[in-house]
Amino acid sequence: MKNNLSNIKKAKIILDKHDCIAIPTETVYGLAANAYSNNAVKKIFKLKKRPKHNPLIVHYSNLGDLKKDCHINDNFLKIFKKFSPGPITYILNLKKNSKISKLVTNKKKTLAVRFPKHTLTKKLLNLLNYPLAAPSANISSRVSCVCSKDVKNEFGNKIKFVLDGGRSLIGLESTIISLTGKPKILRLGGLEPSKINKLLKKNLKLKLIASKNFFPGQMKLHYSPGIPLRLNVSKPKNNEAYLLLKKKGKYNKNFYYLSNKGNLKEVAKNLYYTLRKIKKLKFKSIAVEKIKNQGIGKTINDRLLRASKYHG
Ligand code: AMP
Ligand code: MG
Repeated sequence: MKNNLSNIKKAKIILDKHDCIAIPTETVYGLAANAYSNNAVKKIFKLKKRPKHNPLIVHYSNLGDLKKDCHINDNFLKIFKKFSPGPITYILNLKKNSKISKLVTNKKKTLAVRFPKHTLTKKLLNLLNYPLAAPSANISSRVSCVCSKDVKNEFGNKIKFVLDGGRSLIGLESTIISLTGKPKILRLGGLEPSKINKLLKKNLKLKLIASKNFFPGQMKLHYSPGIPLRLNVSKPKNNEAYLLLKKKGKYNKNFYYLSNKGNLKEVAKNLYYTLRKIKKLKFKSIAVEKIKNQGIGKTINDRLLRASKYHG
C-alpha cells in the first residue's frame, strides 16, 4: 500500500513535467500524458508511432472535470450512472473553451472520454489538475499490453515509468459509443452492447466509421502479435502454437489454454497476455480454436479477426 502511494506520487511528478508514463486500467495498460499539454501529447504519438490523425481517448476521474471540456446529454448520463467507471468510452462534443490539446483530437470537435476503474489510476487522476490522454500502451497496430512487464518490453528505456497495477482484469479495450447524435457503437469492447441496449431501450448497431476518417481500432489489421494467426482451427500444425478455449485432451507443449472451463471472460483476460507470451517464445505462427460469438466472445472474435490479417 505504502509502495503504491509513493509510486503514484512518482507518476504525478513525471506527468507534471509533461512526460509520458504507463498506467494500469481494467481494460489494458494506457500510455498517459497531460491532455491539456501539446508537448506531453506529442510524446505519446512519438512513442507509440501513432499516425497523427488518429485521436486519443482522454481519461477523467469525475463528471465535474469532464464538464469543463465536453457537452453532456441524457443518454450519456444514463450510461455513465450505470457503467462508469468501467470499460466504456463516450464520444462527446467538445466545448469551445475546452483546454484539451488540439493534438489529442486532430482538431476534431468531438472527444473520446473514459472513466477508468482501476484503483491506482483513479487515485492518480484525483491528484492531478488535468485529465490524462491515454491510448493503449503499445506500438501502433500491435497487441495491447495487460501487465507492466509487457509495457516495459514494448518500449524499453524509452518509457520513463510504468505504474504497476498488476494484470488488467478485463484484458480487452473499451467499447466505444458515439453520443453526439443518435447513439452508435463504434468499437466492440469490454462492455457488451446488449447491456447498453437494455438500458436505453434501443437496438444499437455497430457503425464502422468511413475509411476516409481512418480509425485504427477499426482498421483491418490491428491487435497483431506480429506473426501469422489462423482462426477456427481444429487441427493445428506440428510447429504452431495452438490457443484453446479450455483444458482438454492430451498435454502438448504447443497448447495454450485461455481458460480452465471455457469461461469467455477468462478467455478475454488471458488473450493478449498469451499472444505476447507466444511471440516471445519465437513461434512462427498461431492457430486459434473456434470461439463462440456470444457476449464478450464477439469482442474477442473482432480482435482475432483483425490480428489474422497479418501476413508478414
Ligand atoms: P486506443 O488506441 O486503444 O486507445 O483506441 C482509441 C480509439 O478511439 C481509436 O480507435 C480512435 O480512433 C478512437 N477515437 C478516439 N477519439 C475519437 C473520436 N473523437 N471519434 C471517434 N473515435 C475516436
Ligand atoms: Mg490501441
